Amino acid sequence: MTWDDIEEIIFDGSQEDIRSLACPSCGSSIIISYTEQTASLMHKCKGCGLISRYNNVAYTPNAVIYFGNNFTTQPKQVRVP
Ligand SMILES: [Zn+2]
Repeated sequence: MTWDDIEEIIFDGSQEDIRSLACPSCGSSIIISYTEQTASLMHKCKGCGLISRYNNVAYTPNAVIYFGNNFTTQPKQVRVP
């Protein structure tokens, strides 16, 4: 899985797919944060700290609809690098 896949799941994935997202580099949980006022989305890996930010996203991501403006994913298994 790449970060592009993860972004796709954050926007359009199912509740279960979003909940089990893991960082493609280190397998850690991902923090998903959304600010309604500016339509800004941020996701950050809890392990390696890789971070991405987007402003003026086109629509409210499914992750926000399902889990609220601040959510940390709960990967089922931690992949060993
Ligand atoms: Zn990571």
